[in-house]
Amino acid sequence: MVIFSPKQKAIASRIEADVVADTWKDWRWQVARAVTEIDEFERLLGIEFDAEERARLDETVRKFPLRITPYYLSLIDPSDIGDDPIYRQCFPDPAELYTDPGDMTDPLAEDKDSPAPCITHRYPDRVLFLVSNLCAMYCRHCTRKRRVGDVDSIPDREEIDAGLDYIRRTPGIRDVLLSGGDPLMLPDDYLDWILTELDGIPHVEVVRIGTRAPVTLPYRVTEDLAAMLSQHHPLWVNTHFNHPVEMTTSSKLALRRLADAGIPLGNQSVLLAGVNDCPRIIKRLVQLLVQNRVRPYYLYQCDLSEGLTHFRTPVSKGIEILENLIGHTSGFSIPTFVIDAPGGGGKIPLMPTYLISWATNRVVLRNYEGMICSYREPDSYEPAWCDRQCHTCDRFLKLEGADESQAVGICQLLSEEDPTIALIPENTARIERRDGS
Ligand SMILES: *Cc1c(COP(=O)(O)O)cnc(C)c1O
Repeated sequence: MVIFSPKQKAIASRIEADVVADTWKDWRWQVARAVTEIDEFERLLGIEFDAEERARLDETVRKFPLRITPYYLSLIDPSDIGDDPIYRQCFPDPAELYTDPGDMTDPLAEDKDSPAPCITHRYPDRVLFLVSNLCAMYCRHCTRKRRVGDVDSIPDREEIDAGLDYIRRTPGIRDVLLSGGDPLMLPDDYLDWILTELDGIPHVEVVRIGTRAPVTLPYRVTEDLAAMLSQHHPLWVNTHFNHPVEMTTSSKLALRRLADAGIPLGNQSVLLAGVNDCPRIIKRLVQLLVQNRVRPYYLYQCDLSEGLTHFRTPVSKGIEILENLIGHTSGFSIPTFVIDAPGGGGKIPLMPTYLISWATNRVVLRNYEGMICSYREPDSYEPAWCDRQCHTCDRFLKLEGADESQAVGICQLLSEEDPTIALIPENTARIERRDGS
């Protein structure tokens, strides 16, 4: 599809008289003219909901607001609207009002793991830094749905400063993930300021930006933005394509600009019922992504946030999709399928089972075709004794800072040097009995 297609022209003319291509491609115009009312949506697409449906839609948007860029709206096929993957991702569904007994307002416990404003610090060496609470479009499947449209949670400069301070005084942080909201909703100079501050922190080795702009507002990726970002390497960008129809000419151009600016690109998809819960759709999507220099990174099982029940698939669907990808298409186009653990445990990867059996010095494996083989392990492997003092180890990781004082988590159980033999949940009746005796 060409940029500013006849369909886009028709929509633009219903928004404002005499809109030319340059106006349509102006990201600020797209943001200012984002559709937030159902009436406007009907008018732009020339459709009409019946009164009963309309009442339920009104109720839905009162709880979870509506916001669609004219660009993203122009990708909807009005002739088959109910099944359209674009429509489903951007337009409210009264099913959002249903709350499942398992739903949670903050399933990932991001608020609990927040030691400073705008910061979620969950993993040892990296943090999530929520620098913007604005989005060009409100995805109906947003995991932070509870905060969408809430103007009170837009971080101001002082809060950003407090977040930066936390990163500055926490030397273990080597990776900072800018997220939100969408960090690319910030003006170039403001984002430039945050990135410059991060560049000045010696222990921050990489910065990543999570943004859906290449999908919902590709015109945001201007040459100026790409030039500014290229001054802040090593900078990575992760975006969020969910369906092949989102890979338009405009999106491709945005991705090309970012890749040409030397930014490694990744993609995080969410598995959504009725949108992309199909091995062939995901296969086509990942192939389009790698063609456009985007490495598929994660495929998420839908979170337990409120109002997402109708989007959730069984976990088995993700395994089925991986079964259809691994071996069948390029290894570097296969995302890791993850469940972000309810309660704040972080991302847990899942895979089909390839290890069929195991005996002394022998593993039995199966491949994607169903072929079963045995791999013979060496008889004579001599493991290095590890006391985590790398400067004395014959494996030669004699790098500054390579020594580690202790193993963490399951690694404790695997470490010869760590005396831990079990990780035991607290607060069980058994443990209480022990403590009481
Ligand atoms: C996803 C996430 C990260 C980054 O995880 P990676 O697996 O390194 O991409 C960091 N912090 C939080 C809170 C996250 O949810």
